[in-house]
Amino acid sequence: MPSEFEIIRRYFSRPAPSALLGVGDDAALVQPAAGRELAVSTDLLLEGRHFAAGAAPRALGHKALAVNLSDMAAMGAAPRWATLALALPSADEAWLAAFAEGFYALAARFGVDLVGGDTTRGPLTLCVTILGELPAGTALRRDGARPGDDVWVSGELGGAAYALEHAQDAAAAKRLHEPEPRVALGERLRGLAGAAIDVSDGFAQDLGHILERSGVGAVVRYADLPKFRIADAALEQRCVLAGGDDYELLFTAPPAARAAIEALAAPLGLALSRVGSIQAGAPRLRLLDAQGRAMQHAPGFDHFA
Ligand code: ADP
Ligand code: MG
Repeated sequence: MPSEFEIIRRYFSRPAPSALLGVGDDAALVQPAAGRELAVSTDLLLEGRHFAAGAAPRALGHKALAVNLSDMAAMGAAPRWATLALALPSADEAWLAAFAEGFYALAARFGVDLVGGDTTRGPLTLCVTILGELPAGTALRRDGARPGDDVWVSGELGGAAYALEHAQDAAAAKRLHEPEPRVALGERLRGLAGAAIDVSDGFAQDLGHILERSGVGAVVRYADLPKFRIADAALEQRCVLAGGDDYELLFTAPPAARAAIEALAAPLGLALSRVGSIQAGAPRLRLLDAQGRAMQHAPGFDHFA
């Protein structure tokens, strides 16, 4: 079995040209461009909680980074550098090779360099910290929604949650295991969107975070939500409103930005749907059915509920 240092050298020491100093010292050194802010975010994936025992290592490498890239997208930041903290039950080289392949393949697509991390023995745990850059003062924060703004969502909702119950559905499984972070959209939304969040815990709950932080309410038409195709109406509602792990962007923008936002869809190859509006008042989501009646909606995912 390779030692800790062999693991790092063999699997996690590819060159990091965008860093002043990458893997191998006590800390990495990075330099954001002049006038840019650093956006920093961490996401932890735990076996048995975020993914099943025996999950495919290549997809895990992808997802561990993807969920962090999604946080950069939701801030409108360009991802640049990542660190990777790993607890591994054993030094399984086939597993490590596939995991590293999935991680580096996605990192290369988004121009991210792995610059450091930590490796230890323990229950399988994957923790990535990501650093991104954006022009000072332009971040898409959760507190930027204003009454009169439109509410928008990218892609389709519900596919990842559907995959948990229908593992044989290949399109849904792809949504769950290999989500595509909406980084290009996030960057294009700087200067257009007021607030943004990525849908990781379910549409209703994640929109709720924007409403709380912005001190506003929202009306959303269920019929207008972009939905992964799910035949069963009750299951569809649960997956679309409360299903996590979709990693689409949910954002608000003034009506004056409609044309500019619609113009992003074709070049990005990504559907952008206007699903409701922000209103003055208590931070509550009013969800309307096709007849305009209020709909009940289940809460989203909460690790401690
Ligand atoms: P230290 O004892 O100073 O924390 P380590 O022996 O843990 O150093 O790590 C040695 C080097 O390898 C450091 O540069 C660290 O950032 C890097 N490193 C450790 N584990 C990983 C990993 N899983 N992925 C990327 N870099 C790693
Ligand atoms: Mg260490």
